[in-house]
Amino acid sequence: MAVNKCIVFDGKSYSGKIDDETITLSSRFYSIRGRRPRLAIIDPSQTFENSMYGRSKIRKGEKLSIECYYIRVPQPVNNKSPIEYIERMLIETEPDGIMIERPLPDWMTENDASQIIPEYMDVEGMNLRNMGKNMTGEKTIIPATADACLQIIESLDGKYGKDVCIVNRTRVVGRPLAMALVNLDYTVTLCHSRTDNLKEKTSAADIVVTATGKPEYLTSEYISSGAAVIDVGITKIDRGVVGDVNFKDVYNKAGFITPVPGGVGTVTTSIIMKNFMNIAMKRVEDRLNY
Ligand code: NAP
Repeated sequence: MAVNKCIVFDGKSYSGKIDDETITLSSRFYSIRGRRPRLAIIDPSQTFENSMYGRSKIRKGEKLSIECYYIRVPQPVNNKSPIEYIERMLIETEPDGIMIERPLPDWMTENDASQIIPEYMDVEGMNLRNMGKNMTGEKTIIPATADACLQIIESLDGKYGKDVCIVNRTRVVGRPLAMALVNLDYTVTLCHSRTDNLKEKTSAADIVVTATGKPEYLTSEYISSGAAVIDVGITKIDRGVVGDVNFKDVYNKAGFITPVPGGVGTVTTSIIMKNFMNIAMKRVEDRLNY
């Protein structure tokens, strides 16, 4: 009987290399500015997932000599705008970069969120100008989760093929990833909850990226033999934290798979910190050259 040789992505080792580059940047920042770089993390909804992502960033920040300010935004009361509260907190903390945890609450639209963060402090590439640059193929920061998927796909070096099916059409994952991949000559199918015959689309692709938040829905029936499967989903169920992919089942058919936990999420946190340091250093260097 042939043994399937599915490669399981090692997020810890991959993110370790990114972290080494980030530490070099944060040390350089410290030697120029005489203080640690400051990242403001705005959490407007305080869901389980948000606080989990938030805690992991704070822990990572400590390891990388980055000061993280976690700003929990209260529910709006008596028509008082929480946006004003956020702006006040940002003046108080004087960050070098800003990001907003998602999912957003009902009272904050994606457009609100993209306007709070100026382009030059936009760690997540969510400002409309940065999104536009990705759309037109200019070099820019893209949201870290999409960037993590992009980097993992690029690391496969075309070995599994270049037809990618993404199951997610949000601004945080599917849309920016689709644009970034097209810019790099991949062929992309973008799916969502209204897509007909999802299995047909995913199983025709060389690489499947899934980010639906539906625990373990993606079984081996959804993929072609030897495909690469990138699991962005993170959901807490009774047994613990799982992804969108039914790992045991898909492992036996795929050629490459990212686990949950220890896969895309681990890389995402490292990319956020690295993108943050690039932004912070750019502003420091711009000042030095002024
Ligand atoms: P979201 O805003 O709810 O978006 C989910 C996307 O999946 C939407 O585009 C939705 O389609 C699509 N979808 C939902 N059910 C589907 C179905 N049955 N068939 C096909 N498409 C379906 O969620 P999100 O914020 O993008 O997060 C998705 C998952 O990724 C969650 O588990 C979240 O925790 C995880 N996540 C992980 C990271 C990380 O770093 N690893 C970062 C962010 C999010 P419609 O557009 O039609 O609604």
